Amino acid sequence: PAPPACLDQSSLRVTSGSISTSIMASHIVGYPRMGPKRELKFALESFWDGKSSAEDLKKVAADLRLSIWKQMADAGIKYIPGNTFSYYDQVLDTTAMVGAVPPRYGWNGGEIGFDVYFSMARGNASVPAMEMTKWFDTNYHYIVPELGPDVKFSYASHKAVEEYKEAKAHGVDTVPVLIGPVSYLLLSKPAKGVEKSFPLLSLLGKILPIYKEVVTELKAAGASWIQFDEPMLVMDLDSHQLQAFTEAYSTLESTFSGVKVLVETYFADVLPEAYKTLISLKGVSGYGFDLVRGTKTLDLVKGEFPSGKYLFAGVVDGRNIWANDLAASVTILKALEGIAGKEKLVVSTSCSLLHTAVDLANETKLDSEIKSWLAFAAQKVVEVNALAEALSGQKDEGFFSANSAAQASRKSSTRVTNEAVQKAAAGLKDSEHRRATNVSARLDAQQKKLNLPVLPTTTIGSFPQTIELRKVRREYKANKISDDEYVKAIKQEINKVVKLQEDLDIDVLVHGEPERNDMVEYFGEQLSGFAFTVNGWVQSYGSRCVKPPIIYGDVSRPKPMTVFWSSIAQSMTARPMKGMLTGPVTILNWSFVRNDQPRYVTCYQIALAIKKEVEDLEKAGINIIQIDEAALREGLPLRKSEHSFYLKWAVHSFRITNCGVQETTQIHTHMCYSHFNDIIHSIIDMDADVITIENSRSDEKLLSVFREGVKYGAGIGPGVYDIHSPRIPSTEEIADRIKKMLAVLETNILWVNPDCGLKTRKYPEVKPALKNMVAAAKQLRQEL
Ligand code: GLN
Ligand code: ZN
Repeated sequence: PAPPACLDQSSLRVTSGSISTSIMASHIVGYPRMGPKRELKFALESFWDGKSSAEDLKKVAADLRLSIWKQMADAGIKYIPGNTFSYYDQVLDTTAMVGAVPPRYGWNGGEIGFDVYFSMARGNASVPAMEMTKWFDTNYHYIVPELGPDVKFSYASHKAVEEYKEAKAHGVDTVPVLIGPVSYLLLSKPAKGVEKSFPLLSLLGKILPIYKEVVTELKAAGASWIQFDEPMLVMDLDSHQLQAFTEAYSTLESTFSGVKVLVETYFADVLPEAYKTLISLKGVSGYGFDLVRGTKTLDLVKGEFPSGKYLFAGVVDGRNIWANDLAASVTILKALEGIAGKEKLVVSTSCSLLHTAVDLANETKLDSEIKSWLAFAAQKVVEVNALAEALSGQKDEGFFSANSAAQASRKSSTRVTNEAVQKAAAGLKDSEHRRATNVSARLDAQQKKLNLPVLPTTTIGSFPQTIELRKVRREYKANKISDDEYVKAIKQEINKVVKLQEDLDIDVLVHGEPERNDMVEYFGEQLSGFAFTVNGWVQSYGSRCVKPPIIYGDVSRPKPMTVFWSSIAQSMTARPMKGMLTGPVTILNWSFVRNDQPRYVTCYQIALAIKKEVEDLEKAGINIIQIDEAALREGLPLRKSEHSFYLKWAVHSFRITNCGVQETTQIHTHMCYSHFNDIIHSIIDMDADVITIENSRSDEKLLSVFREGVKYGAGIGPGVYDIHSPRIPSTEEIADRIKKMLAVLETNILWVNPDCGLKTRKYPEVKPALKNMVAAAKQLRQEL
């Protein structure tokens, strides 16, 4: 509704003094869908299990949407996002919107319902799911659209319009959010049977008519703003790709009359060329920028900003859990106000709040000091509004002073700063931290001690986690069973796993990780500087959520973390027992990290803590130590120009952990992926003695990497079977796979192991699979 005429008169403002009557607008890019207590997860899983009806699920979803809209409206947010709810994934929702259902799901037109939608997401009895991949550099995974020259787009899901109407019926006027057409195409892959080189952008002309239909319908329903998310604009784009944005929005321009369009970018700064393209797009009224990760964008905006356009300034971090430094944000916003003008500046989040936890109000276990430093999605909404009010001269003094007190307490808290750790980490920067001898010499020395057969067999670490085991850990945590009872139970489990491996005749054993709930949490709980939430869940994919630890302070290791269990395990067998650690880069990448120091500093601190653990394990007589770096690759920055810096400190951190051990101590590392081609030199530079990797699904791609590996000389254990599937591979099949590897690799460096840990599998699958694996290794030893 238009403001009363009198408020529009500038004379009134002048005479009424400094207090302006209009409040600066506020905007939220997107909001988590799972609910504060993962309500959607449980509703989805119950529906998938056939325990509840589609109506039940829809009801939970509608209640969640309403509570989110209400919450934002009550907080005073002007531009409230719509259509950011999803039953599975917003990219899949877009695939449904444009009717790009791959033919194998048997869709025959009409509105896409749960059947087809969830088949694409999760597969069904006869067809597997569509591929899933990481959403930019977040831990969220989207369903990759499959497109080819024959795709027939049609307007097949009216979800965006339905949700707009739904909110409106509740009195909330939302800004429907759509994934922009160019980002959608660029996030797709060529469909099965279509050439890899198929130019996805050639489908632009075909897909735009659907977007026109959607926009037309949204306008008819009353939408006054529509948000187009075009996060691809922050990537390294060539001129052809940039041209696609220009073309797309020129084509849509006529449809945009009568509605304002926001093009939203996030996750990094927009490069100068992309910025030029963005601000010249036709028919667009506003631009959204991530000013938390996109620090260079600020300079671009200051350099040039088109007059009369809205500037959505993403100053509140959507990727982390820290309370905003409100005073600092006010300074940024004031500067931008001078550029876009008070009426056209909108306070916003850096990206969708999907990537942060939901509501701090549900954290019962965090102490009040740490809590005062944090803001989850619900609190960030309040921050955005408080900033908008402050910029309008209606500063909530109480809120601001509490915020600055919290900022100050975080800066000065002795729980955050540990001088000794700071000093130790600062001293690392220009060092190399390399082991004294080269890898071939080390392997020789280790072999003398270990005396392993050729093609040594091992596993990646975890063994199946049974219900009883989880119960023991849970009860121990809840103080329901004593230390002694707990130790006894875990010892028994380790003994079982050790005996099983001996029976199977595996060469290098593991203790099975029965004491660990999660490979990061287990270490975080024992390191200082970490805090844990009870409900700080973040959606990873579909109904799956993760609960990252919060690293709030300098990291140190008060006492050994794994030595007790590893020593017990080693005492149970004459065979070598691998010590099992999570590496610093993985701990860093799977946590919410500090924003008050560079990531690499935090990583170095974790590395120093793990280094102590490595050296204590060695002292306790553990001769093989595996340091998992499952998440090293996923931390790679979005921009190529930033890769080398990241890889340098990440690899350095790994070397810090183990540069101090004797040459006879064998260092293994494990990675859960096999796309190494672009980072192979960094992997080599980690200088591990043995590296085990995922491989069972991508033999050919790895060949080139292996050739490099031959030159390198370290041991390599490409997974010989897929642990993600319950299928039991036969001896022949595994032998065949090993033969293929032997065709490229020297016999003396090849290890035989599964793809990853066995934690999610069951014993009836694991036993025969490992039996066949060992049999295959033995068979090939005979043939050599
Ligand atoms: N050692 C871990 C395990 O076996 C490794 C897990 C992983 O790579 N994600 O469970
Ligand atoms: Zn793995």
